[in-house]
Amino acid sequence: MNGHRPARGNPSREQNPAYGLLQPIIIAMTDNSVWKYALQNLEQRFAALPGASVLRLNRLFDDYCSAKAVMDRITRAAGSGPLCHDCGGQCCLNGKYRINGLDALVMIASGTPVPDPDFSRKPLCPYGHENGCSMEPRFRPASCVQFICEPLAALLPIAAETSLAHEERSLRELISRSESLSGLPLGLPLLLWGEQQLRGVPEPPGADII
Ligand code: SF4
Repeated sequence: MNGHRPARGNPSREQNPAYGLLQPIIIAMTDNSVWKYALQNLEQRFAALPGASVLRLNRLFDDYCSAKAVMDRITRAAGSGPLCHDCGGQCCLNGKYRINGLDALVMIASGTPVPDPDFSRKPLCPYGHENGCSMEPRFRPASCVQFICEPLAALLPIAAETSLAHEERSLRELISRSESLSGLPLGLPLLLWGEQQLRGVPEPPGADII
């Protein structure tokens, strides 16, 4: 022992020259630029995946959309339509991190345009417009589809609650499987993933199978 204590902090990050070099870039970039960067990167990483992974992912995308559509049908049947209309979408405030990598990838793979976010709408969600959400229910972010406000929860029959819980578990499992199949952190909000890439933050271990 020489009496020296190891330095505190995150040595690997501090020693990564890219971190220091890229930090000023992220500060200068707007949310819109980061979003475009993240989306382009996602498209390129998906295009580089092996064919067998893409085939299995495409089947998973169908299940992911179906689970969201089922959840939407259940909440509508319970009366979410008039409830959401009267509320005006309080749950849709501050939504810039709502779209995760898988939500976006499903749209890309199906040829559905990914919303062009308008971050100037803050505190309104950048992916919405005057008529509500710009995405069909089956393409909406998993975090939005899963959210049940208290007034809606009060309307749900027990059987509907059970079905929603089942679909919610499915969504979580599908996100996890999509990450294993792609090697990409698809459960992360896409905008956050873009920010992390620009900062040089390493992706989770085992996230790169390409
Ligand atoms: S993505 Fe759509 S549903 Fe989700 S918060 Fe934004 S407008 Fe609302």
